[in-house]
Amino acid sequence: MRISVCMKQVPKTTDIKIDPVTNTLIRDGVPSIVNPDDKAALEFALRIKEETGAEINVVCMGPAQAENALRETLAMGADNAYLISDRAFAGSDTLATSTILSAALNKIGFDAIIAGRQAIDGDTAQVGPQIAEILGLPQVTYCADVKFDEEKNEFTLKRQSEDRVQTLKVKGKVLLTVLSGSVKARYMNVKDIVKQESKAINVITYDDLLCDKATIGLAGSPTKVKTTFTKQFNTEKDLIETTPQEAAKIIAEHLKAQHLI
Ligand SMILES: Cc1cc2nc3c(=O)[nH]c(=O)nc-3n(C[C@H](O)[C@H](O)[C@H](O)COP(=O)(O)OP(=O)(O)OC[C@H]3O[C@@H](n4cnc5c(N)ncnc54)[C@H](O)[C@@H]3O)c2cc1C
Repeated sequence: MRISVCMKQVPKTTDIKIDPVTNTLIRDGVPSIVNPDDKAALEFALRIKEETGAEINVVCMGPAQAENALRETLAMGADNAYLISDRAFAGSDTLATSTILSAALNKIGFDAIIAGRQAIDGDTAQVGPQIAEILGLPQVTYCADVKFDEEKNEFTLKRQSEDRVQTLKVKGKVLLTVLSGSVKARYMNVKDIVKQESKAINVITYDDLLCDKATIGLAGSPTKVKTTFTKQFNTEKDLIETTPQEAAKIIAEHLKAQHLI
C-alpha cells in the first residue's frame, strides 16, 4: 500500500508579512514549521505503516527552503519526500495549488491520500477537498481517528463535526483530511534522523508535471488577493488600580451602563 501525505511548510508565527507588490506571503527568512494538521496526517500514516508495512510518501509544494520540513518528516519515519517546486508555481491560490499537487500525486502514485484539514497560514481548508475533486476521489474530511484493515482494504474513520462524531467505513482509494488535536504526533527518532541525512529529496518541477500553465501560479489563480492589511487594535483603555472587590463593582457598573448585563 502507498500512502501519500500532503504537508505544507508554514510560518512559525502568526505575525506574517505580506509582499505589498504581489500580495503574497513573504516566506524567505521566516522561521517555519511543519503545519500541525499535517504532522497528525503523517502520524496516522505511520501507524498504518507499522501495521501493514505501507510506503509513506510525503508531498510538499513550496520554495527550496521547504526541504527542511520534508527532512523532519523523514526523521519521523516517512519513506520518501517529494518537493514540488518551481518559480512557475509561486503565488498559487488554493485551486492552483490543488491542481499542481494533484498532478504530482498522480505522478508519484498512491492508494490513499492523507492531508491536514487546514494550514495555519492560508487557513482556507480548501486544498484537501479540491485535490479529491480534481482526482475524482471520495473524500472524508475532519477525521479525528483513522484505522486501516488491510484484509478488507478498508478504512474505519471517526469524523468529528461540531456536535457529533460519525463512524465511516471506506474501501479503496480515498482522500482524508485530519485534525491535529486528535492524535499526538511522534517526535523524530535518532535512527531516522541519521538515515534521512543520506536520503535525497525528490524534486518535481513544472516540466515534470502535465499542468496547463494557465491554471497555476499567480497568473493562473482565479483568486486575487486585492488588498491585505494588519488589523489595528486601538481600543480605549482605563487603568484603575484598586481592590478586586472594588474592581468587580466598577466593571459591573460599566457593563450595566453599556446594557451588557
Ligand atoms: C493570509 C493568506 C490568505 C490566503 N487566502 C486565500 C484565499 O482566500 N483563497 C485562496 O485561494 N488562496 C488563499 N491564499 C493562498 C493559499 O494559502 C495557498 O494557495 C496555499 O498553498 C493553500 O491554501 P491554504 O494555505 O489555505 O491551505 P488549506 O487548504 O488550509 O490546507 C489544507 C491542507 O492541504 C495540504 N496543503 C496545502 N498547501 C499545501 C502545499 N503547498 N503543499 C502540500 N500540501 C499542502 C496540507 O495537508 C494542508 O493541511 C492565502 C494565503 C495566505 C497566506
